Amino acid sequence: MKTKAAVCRAFGKPLTVETIDLADPGPGEVLIRTAACAICHSDIFYLDGAWGGDLPAVYGHEAAGVVEAVGPGVARLKPSDHVVATLIRNCGFCAPCAEGAPVFCEEVFPLDRNTPLHDSAGARIAHGLRTGAFAEHLLVDQSQAIAIPKDMALDSAALIACGVLTGLGAVINTAGVKAGSSVVVIGCGGVGLNSIQGARLAGASPIIAVDVEPMKLAAAREFGATETINAKSEDVRERAAALNGGRKADWVFVSVGAKGAAEQGVSLMKRNGATVLVGMPPSGVMAAIDPGWLAADGQRILGSKMGSARPAIDVPMIVRLYREGRLKLDQLISARYRLESINEALASSRSGAALRNVIVF
Ligand SMILES: [Zn+2]
Ligand SMILES: [Zn+2]
Repeated sequence: MKTKAAVCRAFGKPLTVETIDLADPGPGEVLIRTAACAICHSDIFYLDGAWGGDLPAVYGHEAAGVVEAVGPGVARLKPSDHVVATLIRNCGFCAPCAEGAPVFCEEVFPLDRNTPLHDSAGARIAHGLRTGAFAEHLLVDQSQAIAIPKDMALDSAALIACGVLTGLGAVINTAGVKAGSSVVVIGCGGVGLNSIQGARLAGASPIIAVDVEPMKLAAAREFGATETINAKSEDVRERAAALNGGRKADWVFVSVGAKGAAEQGVSLMKRNGATVLVGMPPSGVMAAIDPGWLAADGQRILGSKMGSARPAIDVPMIVRLYREGRLKLDQLISARYRLESINEALASSRSGAALRNVIVF
C-alpha cells in the first residue's frame, strides 16, 4: 500500500514528507493506521547520526493507532482495535524472553531481515527503531502492538510506548524502589518526569528533581518531585544532600544521555546505593568512574533499557494507573504538529523547550 511518511535522507538534515510503499502484513504482523507519534530523544539521536544506521530511514517509535489489518496467525488483535505500538519486538520463547526480559529478545524476525518500506523509485527505506511511525501507517510484529481501551485518547496513549515505559519502568522494574527510599532524578524531560511519577507511585521520599530549565523543574513538581535543584545556578551535590537530611540518595536515575550527567549521578548516590543509567549518550561517549570508590562504598551502577519493560504487562498497568488518575500522561504533551510540520516539531524538541511534542494524523 501507499502511505505518507517523513523520510530522513541525510543525517542532520530536514526530513522530507514523501509517499512511500508499505508492505502488507505478513504472518504475525499488524498494520496500524497511526493516530499519534511523539518525538523521543532517541529519534533525534538517530536523525542526527549519533548512533549510525542505514539511510534513508523512517524513524518514530512512540506511537498509538488503530489496527487496520492483521497478517495470518494474528489472533490477539483485529481490525479497529486501538493499540500502543512499541519498538520492543519479542518472541516470548528465547532465553531473554523466558527470563522476563523481552527487550533483549534474540529472535530474528522477517521484519528484521527485510524492511517493509520502499520509496517511489523502489529503493529500500530502513524501518527505523523497528517501528517507522513518522508515517500515516506503520507495520509491526504483533508482539509490538498492545491493545488499549477505545475510549482512551490516542495522543496520550502514544507516550506510553517509549517515554513512560522507560522512565516509570526504570524505577518500578529495573530498580524496584521501596517506599521511603530517597530518589534523585537527573533530567526532567519526557523520560525523567516518568521516573519522578514512578518514584511517587513507589512511595519514595524525598524525590529530588535536577534540571537546568525552570519550566521542567516546575513540571517535575507537578509530576511528584518533592524538591527541585536548578543545576545551572545551584551546587547539585551540596543541595541534594541538604534536601535529604545531609545524606546522599538511595537511588539516582540519570535520564540525560551525556557523560557529565552519568558522572554527576554516580557522585550523588550514597554508600550501598545505586545509580540507574536510563538516557543513552551518542556511541563512543565514555564516563570516568573510580572503581575503587565504587567497590569500597558497595555501590551499584545499573543500566535500564526501555525500563526493563514487559509491554504486555506494563502497558495495561500504565493505562489503569492513568484512568485511576494516579499517573499523568496528558500533561506531558507540549504541542501537537501535523506530519507536514515535523521539522518544526523536531526543532522544538532539539531545543529542550518541550516535554513531548506529538505528531498527530
Ligand atoms: Zn524512545
Ligand atoms: Zn525472544
